[in-house]
Amino acid sequence: MQLPGLIDPVPVPRDLPARADGRTAVVGLTRSQLAAAFAAAGVPGAKMRASQVWHWVYHRGATDFAAMANIARDTQALLAERFVVGRPEVTTAQVSGDGTRKWLLRFADGEEAECVFIPDADRGTLCVSSQVGCTLNCRFCHTGTMKLVRNLTVGEIVGQVMLARDALGEWPSGPGDNVLEGRQLTNIVMMGMGEPLYNFDNVRDALGIVMDASGLGLSKRRITLSTSGVVPMMARAGEEIGVNLAVSLHAVTKEIRDEIVPLNKRYGIDELLAACAAYPGANNARRITFEYVMLKDKNDSDADARELVRLIRHYRLPAKVNLIPFNPWPGSAYECSTPDRIARFSDIVFQAGISAPVRRPRGRDIMAACGQLKSASEKIGRAELDRRAAEKEAGWTAVA
Ligand code: SAH
Ligand code: SF4
Repeated sequence: MQLPGLIDPVPVPRDLPARADGRTAVVGLTRSQLAAAFAAAGVPGAKMRASQVWHWVYHRGATDFAAMANIARDTQALLAERFVVGRPEVTTAQVSGDGTRKWLLRFADGEEAECVFIPDADRGTLCVSSQVGCTLNCRFCHTGTMKLVRNLTVGEIVGQVMLARDALGEWPSGPGDNVLEGRQLTNIVMMGMGEPLYNFDNVRDALGIVMDASGLGLSKRRITLSTSGVVPMMARAGEEIGVNLAVSLHAVTKEIRDEIVPLNKRYGIDELLAACAAYPGANNARRITFEYVMLKDKNDSDADARELVRLIRHYRLPAKVNLIPFNPWPGSAYECSTPDRIARFSDIVFQAGISAPVRRPRGRDIMAACGQLKSASEKIGRAELDRRAAEKEAGWTAVA
């Protein structure tokens, strides 16, 4: 079934675009791909070099082969000739009054995506994008209004984590450096721009790199993937990625969810909750988070709260609910529920024994809060859009 305004993701993985200088970017290659690329380039002791480079790049944050002290000079030179470590270019960096930071990244093809860091007393969370734009057009989400959509590559996803570490100054300078102890960036949420399960392979490989113990080393318990409900990919997400799952539920009736999350017309609430109940790894210690954006007079009644409780019980879900006050954006069609209404909704869910905290909006002043992300990538000419449409076969999607 083809929904109006919704273009299916192209399942064919896209090859990395060749760099103009002919070199291969290291960030974004899996360990085995890195070893194979070194072997193909004639790097002596390719497998061993790959382990060393991996450590320098992901553990120490090195961006220059010349700094990799345990690699011989002539090998460093060979590596520099054929490879580049690589980072996305940051075109704008903003800091909110509440400490939230937002980076606008520009990739090699000129397209842009945003990435947000949210510091808290006991943790710091990086909100990572998986696509430029999003095909899914949820009615309350700014990203969904972007016309241009493409999947981010593995390197572009991992690159967001790398540049956050750069910006926060969190690479250890050497073995005795205890920067690791006091790091601000402790958690990652795949909740930036895009639907991560529509870019499954790249998100899986990127998170694999982020979780690699001898590199960035983030535990799967500190990573959360949020989906708007791409049911057919959820089991694989549990098996092949294994991180915490968040599901953007936002409504408990077909009528309202069809309106605000159009993907619901394809995968309805019951199918979605059944997939949650079957999610590998979900249990009382690792609960599924249901995200629920509070929209005035739309999904915020007492009856909605009670139905939410009923559904969670019916499917016996190990669940917690995150109530997200709606974050407005220019032209948005909804209003945020009143604080009293949100508090009442939260109470009803809490009284049923289900945790339902209200999320404090962060970074609203710099348009960095949930659902406010939108880059200028849509401001691209008609001819360019047509060209991109022609590239669909290669794994790109353009929505006219
Ligand atoms: N595409 C994925 C992940 C990115 S969105 C998903 O939809 O789950 C991250 C969260 O922000 C989702 O729960 C999304 O529904 C919510 N969100 C989107 N627009 C919002 C807005 N304007 N105000 C508050 N939350 C919003
Ligand atoms: Fe896409 Fe998520 Fe926004 Fe919906 S809420 S349009 S799935 S980014």
